[in-house]
Amino acid sequence: MQVRNEEKYKGKGTRKCRTCGGARALIRSHNLYICRKCFRESAQGIGFKKYG
Ligand SMILES: [Zn+2]
Repeated sequence: MQVRNEEKYKGKGTRKCRTCGGARALIRSHNLYICRKCFRESAQGIGFKKYG
């Protein structure tokens, strides 16, 4: 049995919105790493359509 502590450690602290620092409803797809709120705001600038 081996537990990958590295991944666990990495997972913590990395999942934060890089825009507001929150960790709610974080969107990791597209390597955005921003929360849903900020995503909707920046989506316009990025070129994404409405989310949700
Ligand atoms: Zn945010």
